[in-house]
Amino acid sequence: MNMTSLDNTLPAPRLGEPYLLTPGPLTTSYAVKEAMLRDWGSWDDDFRAMTAELRTRLLAMLGKGGDDFDCVPMQGSGTFSVEAMLCSFVPRDGKVLVLANGAYGQRTAQTLAYLGRDHVVLDKGDYLPPRGVEVAQILADDPEITHVVAIHCETSSGILNPVEEISEATYAAGRKLLVDSMSAFGALPLEVAQVRYEALVSSANKCIEGVPGFGFIIARKSELELAKGNSNSMSLDVHAQWATMNKTGQWRFTPPTHVVAAFLVALRAHEAEGGVAGRGARYTRNRDVMVAGMRELGFETLLKDRWLSPIIVTFFCPADPKFVFADFYALMKAKGFIIYPGKLTVVDSFRVGCIGQMDEHVMRRVTAAAKETLEEMGVKSATPPSRALEERAKLAA
Ligand SMILES: *Cc1c(COP(=O)(O)O)cnc(C)c1O
Repeated sequence: MNMTSLDNTLPAPRLGEPYLLTPGPLTTSYAVKEAMLRDWGSWDDDFRAMTAELRTRLLAMLGKGGDDFDCVPMQGSGTFSVEAMLCSFVPRDGKVLVLANGAYGQRTAQTLAYLGRDHVVLDKGDYLPPRGVEVAQILADDPEITHVVAIHCETSSGILNPVEEISEATYAAGRKLLVDSMSAFGALPLEVAQVRYEALVSSANKCIEGVPGFGFIIARKSELELAKGNSNSMSLDVHAQWATMNKTGQWRFTPPTHVVAAFLVALRAHEAEGGVAGRGARYTRNRDVMVAGMRELGFETLLKDRWLSPIIVTFFCPADPKFVFADFYALMKAKGFIIYPGKLTVVDSFRVGCIGQMDEHVMRRVTAAAKETLEEMGVKSATPPSRALEERAKLAA
């Protein structure tokens, strides 16, 4: 299968398989899935070379200055890697400022509570962005804070948080930044020459378009050295995984061999597509085409354009009483598209992902399917309730 032919339509999922308009697991290419049809010995040279290639390719995405960083893959879903980053880089007597505006920020705070790390939360609610000035103020008021954790794209609303200004405020106050770039890394630039941070995490099944099974921590080498002895989890100790991997080329415990093999195929396709810039451009086009089509039907986005990420977009449910999300979901699925329920607490919403093996042609089919579905449901207009628009008005331009 030719992975580089993105100028026309991407290969559709196999017959009967719906597109996953979800932020990972997502629709992967046939070549990625096919790579899993053989077995590898975890200690064998062939597999060790695969691990080395994976680490090198991920580091290359940091751009200039990436030599100061190293990449440590970690078994488990993305959350395991977030937890590994937190318990390894935050010393036991450290204190964290968590910038939360959705479920993943909340999960980071919960993880720190489990780990017994002191922390405070700047909770911006469902979707308002944490701003640099707010971070500066909190850090000035509390000299005990050692680390700031930011969520790059908060996948629960799809907001693209302003990591650059958060980073500037953090380092101006002499503290350290850790970034959950789970749903953004590989499609949105996080080059070390542009944004300063000590470590980031992401996983196999988001913008690199692999299958689920591991995550990875990319951290400054000096921070990796300092991490020795910090972790109060044995299996999630990033320093130990790093030291073993550098010494033996192996993972400490059974690696997800097939997932790694699939990920390498995904990484090569990522490069062939033009790396982070190419991947980001396709997702941006996906978003623009999909959002324009949905707006034509009367749907409104939760976020104003400047905060919309090319990863996933939240729409308000229409005010029309004939609109029932469960029915909308089922009818969209019958047309080959799996959408995602919303996570807002104030008003009803749903989400449509822009990532995975999909292009603008697929997105046009998505909005055509939405139009047809509204007709089937007897919904005349997709306009949201006025309460939703009042809610959105709280968001600065
Ligand atoms: C997907 C995601 C995670 C990790 O979730 P898992 O279900 O453990 O893979 C963490 N943070 C963000 C922002 C995410 O999008």
